[in-house]
Amino acid sequence: MPPLCPACRTAVGAHDRLCPACWSRLRFIERPFCPVLGVPFSADLGEAIVSAEALADPPPFRRARSAVLFDETARLLVHQLKYRDQPGAAGIVAALTLRAARELADRADLVVPVPLHRFRLWQRRFNQSAEISARLAAGLGLEHAPMALMRTRRTRQQVGLNARERAANMRGAFCVRERFRPLVAGRQVLLVDDVYTSGATIKAATKALLRARAESVDVVTFARAGIDPLG
Ligand SMILES: [Zn+2]
Repeated sequence: MPPLCPACRTAVGAHDRLCPACWSRLRFIERPFCPVLGVPFSADLGEAIVSAEALADPPPFRRARSAVLFDETARLLVHQLKYRDQPGAAGIVAALTLRAARELADRADLVVPVPLHRFRLWQRRFNQSAEISARLAAGLGLEHAPMALMRTRRTRQQVGLNARERAANMRGAFCVRERFRPLVAGRQVLLVDDVYTSGATIKAATKALLRARAESVDVVTFARAGIDPLG
């Protein structure tokens, strides 16, 4: 079998590579962006300027960063990661996420993925966030705690819910497992997920870590959905 592009599955020259067309279509999130939310600004307003969104609705996490916008190529990569055995997809997604995580690493000492519900985990066979976070922790030389967070209940699919409904749906949906509470307490946690969508899931997971007395939580995701550059 010749190596295939993990996004579009055309033949490529080597494993763990995107084809040139898919690579050129990825839209990397670069500065200038909001130092809290990591959402790109359309103009450079300086390092100290925080977005209106972050001021109006301060998130429980300290900083969030994502590698790329959630466009078609990013969606294909995440889909491969979730539903198929494409080891190449995990390697590429992890490598790009690692780039976005580098600036957070000096104030992080524990890497924790957002967990899937057990039922979905079984459906998909593995947790794509844990797949990314394992490689991230290794790349950054940080401790990895893939089992620290758990879902406390099943949640509805977020699709079709508005922001308020999403927040309500996710409220209290996570907790830190009892035996991991001593590990989390006082630590600077780097929380990892594949896609930042409305933020409802990420914020609920962050709050669970803070309830377990984590000192701080920073967030890194591979892709960021639903953003237009802020003016
Ligand atoms: Zn491709």
